[in-house]
Amino acid sequence: MTNYTDRKQIPQSEKWDLTAIYKDQQAFDQDYAKTAELIEQFKSREADFITGSAPFYATLKDAQQIESLLNRLEVYASLFSDLDTGNNEGQILMGRMFKLYNDFGEASSFMQTAMLKVDDLTLQAWNKEEPGLLDYARTIEKARRFREHTLTDESEKLIASMQNAMHSHSRIRSVFANADLSFGKIRDESGKLVTLTDTNYVPFLMGSNRNVRRNAFRTLYRTYDQFGNTFASLLNSYISEKVTMAQVRKYGSSLEESTFYDEVTPEIYHNLIKTVNAHLGSIYDYYTMKQKLLGIPKLHLYDVYTPLVSSSHSHYTYDEAVREVLDALKILGKEYHSTLKQGLTEKHWVDVWPTPGKRGGAYSSGCYGTEPYILLNFTETLDDVSTLAHESGHSMHSYFSHTNNKEQEAYYTIFVAEVASTVNEILFAHYKLRTSSSKEEKLEVLNQLLELYRGTLFRQTMFAEFEEIAHEKVSNGMTLTKDILNADYYALVKKYFGPDVYVDKQIALEWMRIPHFYRFFYVYKYATCISAASSIVKKIETQGDSYINQYLNFLKCGDSRSPLDSLLVAGIDLRKPEVIEDALNDFESILKEFKKSI
Ligand SMILES: [Zn+2]
Repeated sequence: MTNYTDRKQIPQSEKWDLTAIYKDQQAFDQDYAKTAELIEQFKSREADFITGSAPFYATLKDAQQIESLLNRLEVYASLFSDLDTGNNEGQILMGRMFKLYNDFGEASSFMQTAMLKVDDLTLQAWNKEEPGLLDYARTIEKARRFREHTLTDESEKLIASMQNAMHSHSRIRSVFANADLSFGKIRDESGKLVTLTDTNYVPFLMGSNRNVRRNAFRTLYRTYDQFGNTFASLLNSYISEKVTMAQVRKYGSSLEESTFYDEVTPEIYHNLIKTVNAHLGSIYDYYTMKQKLLGIPKLHLYDVYTPLVSSSHSHYTYDEAVREVLDALKILGKEYHSTLKQGLTEKHWVDVWPTPGKRGGAYSSGCYGTEPYILLNFTETLDDVSTLAHESGHSMHSYFSHTNNKEQEAYYTIFVAEVASTVNEILFAHYKLRTSSSKEEKLEVLNQLLELYRGTLFRQTMFAEFEEIAHEKVSNGMTLTKDILNADYYALVKKYFGPDVYVDKQIALEWMRIPHFYRFFYVYKYATCISAASSIVKKIETQGDSYINQYLNFLKCGDSRSPLDSLLVAGIDLRKPEVIEDALNDFESILKEFKKSI
């Protein structure tokens, strides 16, 4: 494997060039000082913001200019700091950015409520007087749609002053789970005594030694079991806060509030749960096959993460990875292919290799007016090639969004954020299934796809269902106790794993491990994204060019319309069962192919 100990050894073409954002630290400092000054001046805007079309327009333009500068500074600072997380300079830059964002947040906090005070007739008149305002039509609309849900100035101020205390549940949970809990020791596969943590728990469960898996499972939950009352009271108070705030802000429910922020509807949420529920038989089949292949009499919950095939040990150099990804994505047409090719080969989008201190994992970053920046920690495996395909999807989505929209409408939202990346990941997997000559590798790809659907579609939908039950109980006046949460969670696990899996009693405690429940109604977006992606891939592969254009038009939407509307551009209607069914059918056909090939 290629092993670099110093970034200087890496060829220029395989690492980021941050000088394209700021040529040196001095240029960064200049922009920083300029932004700080603009923020200071911006404070005076509050006085005349909504007194006429001219100051209204000027304020929106100034805010946009500051945001634009902040984005550029932030991208530079975070990329710089991620390349060497131990470097003090990077941490200082991030600290300075945090302060600048805070300053602007404070200086501009008047805008949201003020915009609500402009009535429709006035706004229409201002639009005529100042045509430049049309450039901010979506910005204004996005603020004004909260009109029904905004309280008096005094109440809003009161709530804002309590933000810190109100957002404390998740912080307390994470300090408690990560710093205070200890899970004891277990013996690993070589018999060595090791400390069990919530992080190394999953790799243990993916191991091939059943005793180690069982031991890790039982040991971990022994600790959680002792603190169930604390976890329950934390989750109960978090949900109570959300339910109460939804009532205060006149939403029908906390689910309605959460989906309103994303510009979608609870209908999507319910459609997902209902459709997945109608297809649980296919995931039961998967577990039955797993049990047979592992050669055990009954599949326990500590067996479900175990991979069905060992990794194929396929080896890819970085050049091969780029070639494979480009080949796999040729199907998306000339413009897509040539832009990505340029990005990966001439424009050095990717920081390829792991080096000491570099941030782990992978992501795609960048902002309006910069090239995309992809961070990899490439170790030459098939998995890494798939990651490159995934991150390229994010980058190309940004490329199309940024080049086809004004900056204020260029950033696509979290609701669609994983669609383009997952489309690429699935296209790449299908490509490998068509072209790989190694049976071992094909099985690895099939196994990866099955696990992708299990973890992203089925598991997240189960979480989503759990969350809704919990929120509903609280809104009906019930207090969530450890016993109630355990019983609800256990019943769902039983339902989602089916009659052939032995549902160990400890799994009832698993909800305590999931930090996402402190981001209300968030996890279902993983499931809707993979469903949308799967449905898009099906259309790409069956309808060809006529559909590809439609898909590219979706990528070009950015934030110029709501996520629901932009997905409709790609022919994806998440309110209908068909989209979810496409993903479920794909899962079933992969399962069939896997059974045939093993
Ligand atoms: Zn992603």
